[in-house]
Amino acid sequence: MRISIVIPAFNEEENLPEVCARIKEHLGGRYERELIFVDDGSSDGTERVLRDMRTQDPEVHYLLLARNFGHQSALRAGLDYATGDCVISLDADLQHPPRLIPELLGHWLSGYDIVYTQRRDDEKLPWLKRKTSAAFYGLMNKLSSVSFEPGTADYRLLDRRVVDVIRASPDVELFLRGFVHWVGFRQKRVEYTPEPRFRGTTKYTVRKMVKLALSGITSFSVRPLHFATLAGVCVSAVAFAYAFYAIYVLLFTNRAVSGWASVLVSVLFIGGIQLLVLGIMGEYLGRLFVQSKQRPPYLIRETDDGLTTPRKGH
Ligand code: UDP
Ligand code: MG
Repeated sequence: MRISIVIPAFNEEENLPEVCARIKEHLGGRYERELIFVDDGSSDGTERVLRDMRTQDPEVHYLLLARNFGHQSALRAGLDYATGDCVISLDADLQHPPRLIPELLGHWLSGYDIVYTQRRDDEKLPWLKRKTSAAFYGLMNKLSSVSFEPGTADYRLLDRRVVDVIRASPDVELFLRGFVHWVGFRQKRVEYTPEPRFRGTTKYTVRKMVKLALSGITSFSVRPLHFATLAGVCVSAVAFAYAFYAIYVLLFTNRAVSGWASVLVSVLFIGGIQLLVLGIMGEYLGRLFVQSKQRPPYLIRETDDGLTTPRKGH
């Protein structure tokens, strides 16, 4: 039985040796194992630390991406190169506690294909993170046809079969959290209390979070487009009603047509709705554009000598 662990890392030099040690401690010596660290274009000493770790430990592997492609793409790179019968992915900052690994493996051995973790939010997590995360999942569930459970991040175990499905999927921008739900198979949830970040600061800037949220919403649902249609219908209905009213005033009363304010408000309102709808359509169109170019989700600058080019998925 071979177990792969995939750890995306973006400027995590201070965390990596500790993460590695903790994972190995909890994995135990029963399985054949590999730890694949994906350096997502770090600008600190992550690369040097990984090279050092590799020379000391043949179970450690690294992939260096050509630039910062983002967490989801880094994860995908790791999944492409992993050779295990199952793959566990977790963050490089110890917020995903490695002590859960035996439990994840236990569920896998008893027949589950996907063992995902759910964070029990507590006071330790920054207030803003809790709120944005809750709002995100609330919105996702409203907008999407797939259900998303709050607090499920990218700490999970995937059976080889599921990994192969992910690898074969042609999406350039794959939103793994949604995709893993969507594939089905036998899934098991494990709850945990998150740990504080070991060292360093969060690598998820607000910009990256917004990008992730947009990718999540648009890749799993066309409901925002329905919303656009609905808004259009509502606004037109109001406009029609108002037009009839104006005609009525003109023909049957002698009141002067009053007020520029109402004109201004309605023009601004309709203009706003139009821009919003255009924006929504633009989001989808942009994604189509990106997908149609078929650029790879990530580029590898270098791998260590122990990794081979990935087998093609099916
Ligand atoms: N990460 C990455 N590329 C990025 C941003 C983050 O590979 O562009 C990695 C990061 O090193 C960490 C994981 O993704 O292992 C989660 O990031 P972080 O802990 O900063 O996010 P948070 O826990 O604050 O949401
Ligand atoms: Mg973190």
